[in-house]
Amino acid sequence: MTNRAWHLMSRPAGMPTMDDFALRDAPLPELQDGWVRVENKWLSVDPYMRGRMNDVKSYVPPFALGEPMQGGAVGKVVESRSPHFKEGETVFHMQGWREQAAGPAEQFNKVPPLPVEDHQWLGNLGLTGATAYFGLFRAAQAKEGDIVFVSAAAGAVGSAVVQIAKAKGMTVIGSAGGADKCAWVRELGADAALDYKSGPIVKLLTEAAQALGSGGIDVYFDNVGGDHLDAAFATARQNARFAICGMIEDYNTGSSHAFRYIMRIIAARIMLKGFIYTDYLPEMAEFYREMGGWIASGQVTSRETVRDGIEAAPQAFLDLFTGGNTGKMLVRL
Ligand code: NAP
Repeated sequence: MTNRAWHLMSRPAGMPTMDDFALRDAPLPELQDGWVRVENKWLSVDPYMRGRMNDVKSYVPPFALGEPMQGGAVGKVVESRSPHFKEGETVFHMQGWREQAAGPAEQFNKVPPLPVEDHQWLGNLGLTGATAYFGLFRAAQAKEGDIVFVSAAAGAVGSAVVQIAKAKGMTVIGSAGGADKCAWVRELGADAALDYKSGPIVKLLTEAAQALGSGGIDVYFDNVGGDHLDAAFATARQNARFAICGMIEDYNTGSSHAFRYIMRIIAARIMLKGFIYTDYLPEMAEFYREMGGWIASGQVTSRETVRDGIEAAPQAFLDLFTGGNTGKMLVRL
């Protein structure tokens, strides 16, 4: 039985290239008692995977050189030697970047009984949506009436943040690269959308907050870091709360920034909270209930950028760093 998987061949310095990856056969192990075999249907590519290409200690171990890479995936059970799974069941798991997965049943999760398409378990009902939900409501403690600024607002996490913040009665300013993405962010309900490629983000954000009559922001959901974070420092109102979710601007450069407005943390009593969505796994039932409800009512919608075939996975991943996706970037097998 063939099973092709993307292997990490070298650790990139700067932006990765196709030479860092190789698509190779990865023979599946014999199915043992208590194991299942899954045919992957959807693979997730995510910015955090760039960090796993480096040989550094972090909240997830680095990808091993010469080995198949890992990542979120949704598939169907095609063979089961576990009493907990039947053939044909849909599961999500972390053996992505490959056509098939096999392992102990504990490594696979049945999808909750909600009437959504399978790929949603990698999007608004998966890591993406959970990051948006817990980042906004737990890390940033956002509440009705807050003025929320979110960067990468036309991306997977950002587009979910825009919609759930609106669902909870907040005013939302989103930033994204380009007029088309900004138009979509407004369609999602954002009160203002800023094209950060059209001018300095600090100027755009200051003007947007003034136009909304708030003069500043109460919450910043940071997906980008750098100048966006500095702009949020500059415009923060008293007791503003920042959810530090990601800093994609620096994933390939590793560089740090001189923050011109960082001292406003003191005067404005800003709270910064870094988080990883897994911090909140015990609260997933609440997330499924809330997000499932918003999806069913149409308050939260999604858009996907879909690439077809296992061959497409590395380029799909690389395109995250040049804004090649609107909404969630997925690979369909
Ligand atoms: P995404 O937003 O769907 O895709 C990445 C987007 O980032 C691109 O579409 C691009 O949009 C933007 N971008 C890329 N380089 C940029 C730059 N130099 N400056 C400004 N924008 C840039 O990806 P995602 O999966 O939703 O992840 C969003 C962020 O959340 C990432 O930082 C990720 O690491 C983080 N994250 C954190 C957690 C956690 O648990 N803490 C979990 C998931 C994701 P534009 O075209 O608009 O530039």
